[in-house]
Amino acid sequence: MAKKEIERLKQWIEESDNIVFFGGAGVSTESGIPDFRSVDGLYHQKYDYPPETILSHTFYRNKPEEFYRFYRDKLIGFEAEPNQAHKKLAQWEQDGKLKAVITQNIDGLHQAAGSRKVLELHGSTLRNYCEHCGKFFDVEDIRNGEGVPVCDACGGPVKPDVVLYEEGLDQDVLSEAVQFIKNADVLIIGGTSLVVYPAAGLIDYYRGNKLVLVNKTPTARDGVADLVVQGAIGEIFGQL
Ligand SMILES: [Zn+2]
Repeated sequence: MAKKEIERLKQWIEESDNIVFFGGAGVSTESGIPDFRSVDGLYHQKYDYPPETILSHTFYRNKPEEFYRFYRDKLIGFEAEPNQAHKKLAQWEQDGKLKAVITQNIDGLHQAAGSRKVLELHGSTLRNYCEHCGKFFDVEDIRNGEGVPVCDACGGPVKPDVVLYEEGLDQDVLSEAVQFIKNADVLIIGGTSLVVYPAAGLIDYYRGNKLVLVNKTPTARDGVADLVVQGAIGEIFGQL
């Protein structure tokens, strides 16, 4: 275990009241949420298309039945609890040390752990809206339904508030994230290998000298980080 690195991170956290956290899929996988991108032998028996195709805007429009079959199975088909990383981040916010959590995950686990300022770059499966009248539906409505969910008020199609492939990010959320990163004292990036947009681009806005990368495997940006802590993020945060 990276004991020396953990001690240094601990010290930076103790000294700071302006921490920002940026998290990727690795934060959620430790809560038992499978990465929907993982394709195994069984996958091909169940789906004729790769996950990135099914979760695209075009596919959602053209084959909504198939989209929702995948969506219920791979994105909302399980119960998950916040892990040590989610809990510690919520605690730091409560203690006035952490300003914001920026996440690429869509499972709402940061809020479930008690975090308030959460910028969800890719939206959330917990929010769903009728495309015609805007009526809200929670995740249970989608999970328990069958086929394409339909609004009980107007009959319109219900769409998850999730950014699909081909769709743009919410510009307000994105620019708020940039502001937090620009002004951060300590920037901790966890559970992402930092190769995919927008993570790779956002990191460049950071101007401080305490850039921390926490990941199981080496990332594309280890060379520019001020501190690299290698390991499972839940386990590491449990020691902070
Ligand atoms: Zn409606």
